[in-house]
Amino acid sequence: MTLRVKSLASGSSGNSLLVTCTDSDYNLALLIDAGLSLRSLVKYLRAEGVEPGDLSGIVLTHEHHDHSQSAHALSRRFDVPIIANHKTLNRIYSGKEETLHAPLPIGERWTEGPLTVETFHVRHNAVEPVGINLYCNIGRHLGHKVSYMTDLGSIDQTVQQATAGADLIVIEANHDVYRLNAGPYPAGLKSRILSDSGHLSNETAVDFMAEHLINKGPCTFWLAHLSKVNNLPKLATNYARATLKLRTSCPFTLDVALRDKPSAAWSPGKTALQLGLF
Ligand SMILES: [Zn+2]
Ligand SMILES: [Zn+2]
Repeated sequence: MTLRVKSLASGSSGNSLLVTCTDSDYNLALLIDAGLSLRSLVKYLRAEGVEPGDLSGIVLTHEHHDHSQSAHALSRRFDVPIIANHKTLNRIYSGKEETLHAPLPIGERWTEGPLTVETFHVRHNAVEPVGINLYCNIGRHLGHKVSYMTDLGSIDQTVQQATAGADLIVIEANHDVYRLNAGPYPAGLKSRILSDSGHLSNETAVDFMAEHLINKGPCTFWLAHLSKVNNLPKLATNYARATLKLRTSCPFTLDVALRDKPSAAWSPGKTALQLGLF
């Protein structure tokens, strides 16, 4: 069984994550969010050896354009189901014809072959935003776990419990608080970003990551949805690496899901191989 997770893009100009799972019986591909132009998405999928029509589904975290831009077009053109909760589906289909879809209420699971998806509630200014847990099952048991959460203003107990034990965590590190406060955004926008239902700062993301490492042990983190104005990949990674090393001796792997091109990739076992780097 080979599980592979690849970031196709991450940030306010577009988000999409490709998950592939192959073994002797299955060759599955699943997209989480489709916030790029259809042209870019199809190009990136084909570069990964995935034909759009072979996708098992497009799982949506919420309806914002940078997460759902081409979900409808991809679904209609290639007969791929959109998997999301009812409120999000209603927004996607508002004024448009319905396409193949599979409602996934929070707390329920969607499974195909060895892949299982479940969602959990996050606080963000959308109709029913969710974080996603993805499992690659081993027999009848839930196997390796990937947690994906971008676009959340705060981390509450629900998020902590839902992501417990994850081997790969893709977490928003939207802004450096100092940089945001000193930056050019209007005061109203700054306070919306900083609110509990806005976007996660480097500081809050790293607090969560330290706790996760202490509780779970070695794992991989990707910093995601970095602001072009209020953050920098180097600033976020340097801060995360230095702070995690201060707070825990547990080894970890750290990467950044870049804004405008395919970047980070992960498969189980990779963490252990790369531990020596950190
Ligand atoms: Zn977003
Ligand atoms: Zn959003």
